Amino acid sequence: MTDVAPLKLFNSLTRELETFQPIHEGEARVYTCGPTVYNYQHIGNMRAYIFADTLGRTLSHLGYKLSHVINITDVGHLTSDADAGDDKMEKAAAAQGKSAWDIARYYQEVFEADLDRLNVRKPAHPRATDYVESMIEWGKQMQDKHCYKLDSGLYFDVSTVPEYGRLARAVTEDGEGRIDEVEGKRNAADFAIWRKTPQGETRQMEWDSPWGKGAPGWHLECSVMSAELLGHPFDIHTGGIDHREIHHPNEIAQNQAHNCSSDSAASIWMHNNFLIDRRGKMSKSTGEFLVLQTLVDRGYHPLAYRTLCLQAHYRSELEFSWEGLQAALTRLKRIVMLVERIADAPSGEATDHPKFAPVLEKFETAIADDLNTAVALTALEDALATKKVDAGIKRAVVERIDAVLGLGLFDLARTDLCIRPKIATITEAEIDDAFARRKAARAEKDFAASDAIRDELAERGVEVMDGDPMGWEWKL
Ligand code: AMP
Ligand code: ZN
Repeated sequence: MTDVAPLKLFNSLTRELETFQPIHEGEARVYTCGPTVYNYQHIGNMRAYIFADTLGRTLSHLGYKLSHVINITDVGHLTSDADAGDDKMEKAAAAQGKSAWDIARYYQEVFEADLDRLNVRKPAHPRATDYVESMIEWGKQMQDKHCYKLDSGLYFDVSTVPEYGRLARAVTEDGEGRIDEVEGKRNAADFAIWRKTPQGETRQMEWDSPWGKGAPGWHLECSVMSAELLGHPFDIHTGGIDHREIHHPNEIAQNQAHNCSSDSAASIWMHNNFLIDRRGKMSKSTGEFLVLQTLVDRGYHPLAYRTLCLQAHYRSELEFSWEGLQAALTRLKRIVMLVERIADAPSGEATDHPKFAPVLEKFETAIADDLNTAVALTALEDALATKKVDAGIKRAVVERIDAVLGLGLFDLARTDLCIRPKIATITEAEIDDAFARRKAARAEKDFAASDAIRDELAERGVEVMDGDPMGWEWKL
C-alpha cells in the first residue's frame, strides 16, 4: 500500500467521512447499481459510472486489488422505483415492437460502448436475468419471517427488520415520496420480492416460482448479485442519490433478512449527486435527455464530458450547459497540448523528485479527501506546468495522476479532440485549401482577400481562430 493520506469517503449511512478499511486485507470490493436497459443512458446516468470508475481507479492506485461489479437491469424495474407502474422493459418492447430481450441486448451494447468512450474501466457486468434462480432462492429463504403474499405477488414487510430506512432518513409510515398503489400492503414502504403475472396475461420475461409465474422485484437483483459476486459483507456500494431513498433501503432490508443480521452488508454506501439542466434533474422518464452521442454529434469529444464531471465534486449537483462543456473541452485541449510535449520521453521514476513532491502531495491529499477530483485536476495542471525538469520524470508524474482521473492522456492527440459536428458540410481538405490560400494572401499583404476567405469559411460554419495560443487554427 502506498504511504499516503488515508482514504476518507463519505458514507451516506452515517452521513460522515470515514476512513476506508477493507474487509479483506489488500482488497476492495465495490458494487455499483447499473443501468436499466430499456432505453439509452443519458449523460446524467453516465456521471454515476464516471464517479464509480474514479472510485475504483483510486482504490487501484492505492494498491488495493479491486473487484468491481456494475449490474445490468434487464428485468423487473417498474416505471416508478416503488411498486407502481409498468415494467420498463415490457413497456419499451410494446412501444418499439421488439422483444424485451432484444431491447435489453441492444441498449446494453450501447451502454458498454459509452463506458469505453468515457474510459470507464471494464467492470464485471452481470445481467439480472441470469440470476433469477438465485433470486427465487432468496425469496424462499426470506418468506416465512419477512414476507407476505398478496394476489399480485410476494411482498417484503419492512417492519420485520431493524431500522428500516436508516439510509434515507426520511421514510415514515406515510412512506415519503411513494404512493401506496398496491392494495393490501401492510406498510406503505413494503415492496415486491416477486410480481406475479396477472391472470390472463403473458409477460415476455417471466419465470416459474413458488408464488406463481412472474418476475422478480427490482430491488432483489442487487442484493443477490452483490452477495454472489462479491460476498456479504463487502466494502462499498454506490449509486445515484435517488437510490438512497428507496432502492438502497430496500436492498439493505433484504440483506438484513437474508443474512439474519442487522448489518447493511456494505461498509460504505456512496451516492453521486445529479446532473441537472435548467429544467432540473436529467431523467429518462421525462423523455428529454442528452446522450453521449449527441455531444459527439455536436463536435465534442466524450472525454470533454469526463473532464466536466471531474471538475465538480461527485456529491455536488452539476449543471450541464454547452458553454460548460466547451470550457471543459478547452481545458482538456490545453492539457493534451502539454502532454504531447513529453509523450516521447521514456517514463521515469515519479516519486523521488523534489520538484514534484508538492504536486504529488496535493494530488494524493485531494483524492484521499473523498475523491476531490476538482483539486486533483489542478494538481495535474501544476505537474504539467513545472519547468526545467526531466521530461521522463514529468511523464511518470502525469501518468500517475491520470491513472486516477482516467483521461487516457497519452492515448489522446490534439487532433482527436477536434471532432466534426454531424451537421458540418465542409471537408477537412477544403478547410486546409482555404487556409493555404489565406496564408498566401496574407504573405502578399492582400488583407482584403484574406478577410474574404475568412468570411467564406464563416458562412460554411468554420470559425478562424487567429492567434489561438494553442495553435488551433479553426473550429467548426
Ligand atoms: P437507471 O438506469 O435509471 O437505474 O439509472 C442508472 C444510474 O444513474 C443510477 O445510479 C441513478 O441513480 C443514476 N442517475 C439517474 N439520473 C441521474 C442524473 N440526472 N444524474 C446523475 N445520476 C443519475
Ligand atoms: Zn441496485
